[in-house]
Amino acid sequence: MTTAQARQDLAVQPTPLALLLLGREADTRSERGVECPGDLPSPSDPDLVARARAAKEKLGEKVFVLGHHYQRDEVIQFADVTGDSFKLARDAAARPGAEYIVFCGVHFMAESADILTGDDQKVVLPDLAAGCSMADMATAEQVAECWDVLTDAGIAERVVPVSYMNSSADIKAFTGKHGGTICTSSNAERALNWAFEQGEQVLFLPDQHLGRNTAVRDLGLSLEDCVLYNPHKPNGGLTAEELRNAKMILWRGHCSVHGRFSLDSVNDVRERVPGVNVLVHPECKHEVVSAADYVGSTEYIIKMLEEAPSGSKWAIGTELNLVQRLANRFAADDKEIVFLDKTVCFCSTMNRIDLPHLVWTLESLAEGKEINRIQVEKETADFAQLALERMLALP
Ligand code: SF4
Repeated sequence: MTTAQARQDLAVQPTPLALLLLGREADTRSERGVECPGDLPSPSDPDLVARARAAKEKLGEKVFVLGHHYQRDEVIQFADVTGDSFKLARDAAARPGAEYIVFCGVHFMAESADILTGDDQKVVLPDLAAGCSMADMATAEQVAECWDVLTDAGIAERVVPVSYMNSSADIKAFTGKHGGTICTSSNAERALNWAFEQGEQVLFLPDQHLGRNTAVRDLGLSLEDCVLYNPHKPNGGLTAEELRNAKMILWRGHCSVHGRFSLDSVNDVRERVPGVNVLVHPECKHEVVSAADYVGSTEYIIKMLEEAPSGSKWAIGTELNLVQRLANRFAADDKEIVFLDKTVCFCSTMNRIDLPHLVWTLESLAEGKEINRIQVEKETADFAQLALERMLALP
């Protein structure tokens, strides 16, 4: 297969339109009752790029635009830095002169940036309806109830919570309050090793797959050492004995993008593209990760492709905007990069941030109107920061 064919095989193009009509209660849970104030520019306005550029220039050093790897190209072109959520939050903290941090990503990322940046910096999310289905799978009430269940089972004192970066500020604060740490997909192994030095069992929130994959692949635990806590069932659907015997108590959450890859996707791409290397994110299911050749975070995926020899073939199991960008970037180097699954797999909430929202945000800020600010309440921010600091201090 030629590189051109491989790119064609991706078979999708980014849509210029938001997937849902925002602020119209098309998806009340995700929109959290938020209305989009003001008139958004039309997606067909031919001047959008010029308008974004002009507003950004007018704001100058006052604004710093962060672009998550999964954002659309039309948004990424205006990012001052790109990266994963934790890198971006730290980049923002390293720019104390920027009054406005425009976070092109999702809600939990903007919360983390607010926690890590100075009090005089204002973090802005261009569309307040850009949430994360995984983060929404663990609410503060559910996690407090889970802790009561662990207390009743007599194990709370020996359980250490470890929460993935992809969680709300409330869950990060819970983690900090109960002696736990945050982890990313790059340092999950170190975080779990640390946690098992502090206690005997781990409560891993909210992504069951990252927790299971790290425990089994990196720490050498068995699948039987892991139990799944379902917040929608009484006592998580587990007996006190099952809870007591487990090493890893995995929260029943997952990423709705990475969770879609299957073992069939891996088998199918190996047939379609002979000699292909399968490279996937650890948010994928355990069977997918087990069948892949390489597993790692988005930063790892990018690095692997940068270092890959010319003529090599890759099937990537992560968000489609990033895969398309990488396929385009490395096409000239004769690296054949295809999407692991033929099904469209954009992150729909990430995709809510589009050029009209970015233009509206930058123009509003340039006119002195403060919009869509994300602010974490102080006590929550303090405990969440404690958990984040433990992560930064991981050996
Ligand atoms: S890709 Fe998955 S984890 Fe990331 S923001 Fe989208 S739903 Fe959340």
